[in-house]
Amino acid sequence: MRQIGIHVSIAKQIDFAVDRAIEVACNRTFQIFTSSPRRWAAKELDKNQASAFLEKARSADFRPFAHMPYMPNIASPNRSFHTQSVEVLIREIRRCSILGISDIVVHFGSHQGSSIAEGHERVISACRTAIEKTDRLKVRILLETSAGTRNSVGSKFEYVASVLDKIGDKNRTGACFDTCHVFASGYDLKTPEASAKTIDDFDEIVGLDRLYLIHVNDSKSDLGQASDRHEHIGFGKIGDAGFRAIFSNKKIREIPLVLETPIDERRGDKENVAHAKSLLPKS
Ligand SMILES: [Zn+2]
Ligand SMILES: [Zn+2]
Repeated sequence: MRQIGIHVSIAKQIDFAVDRAIEVACNRTFQIFTSSPRRWAAKELDKNQASAFLEKARSADFRPFAHMPYMPNIASPNRSFHTQSVEVLIREIRRCSILGISDIVVHFGSHQGSSIAEGHERVISACRTAIEKTDRLKVRILLETSAGTRNSVGSKFEYVASVLDKIGDKNRTGACFDTCHVFASGYDLKTPEASAKTIDDFDEIVGLDRLYLIHVNDSKSDLGQASDRHEHIGFGKIGDAGFRAIFSNKKIREIPLVLETPIDERRGDKENVAHAKSLLPKS
């Protein structure tokens, strides 16, 4: 079966994340924060826990992904904020390397009122610096398509392509396609035809050879509303038909799928993973 998983918690011990992924029936992939997403500082990784994580992930045949914490903003025009954000990116790349994680998902961030072009320049310099400072490591930075909320950068495929081109290190960079963000930013995914066109556009502009991960999230907001509100799979505006079409698109059938859906009384992680699996093409 295809690699399909969900974002899981690292609470208490980082290796427990693998147990949680197994518990909710992730298949060969899942995603974590390696440190608290709402704090700047991170405790050093415990050596025993890190090797337990590695071993458990390896024996269950998982390819895990990591996600940057929320506080840093690599597009920030504020110099010290930007520097601090780059430091966190470097730290996270090192942590990924210790944990045997080959890809870290990074948000383009917010230009905070400067300009999209300036924001992109900051993203480029942040990634270049982080790659230079970790030149012996193989961890790839995956820039995530953004929803186009106010002051955000990276909401158009052209932006993703040009930023990746300018960073220029093919082995260390790539893209993460978030269905909710892409849809909110104006690329239709509701019908098989619309979704095929969006994937074709992405291929033409960014290139599917640079796509390493798909974030599978339904959207509370409608097409082009530029707002980032994740919804359970099938309950939002993309809907089951939309996801069925994305999952059966032959051009992207090798790309791992990771859900970042809410957890509430309507549905939990296990049910979302099961529901997403039910939309995969048979065979
Ligand atoms: Zn995402
Ligand atoms: Zn989002």
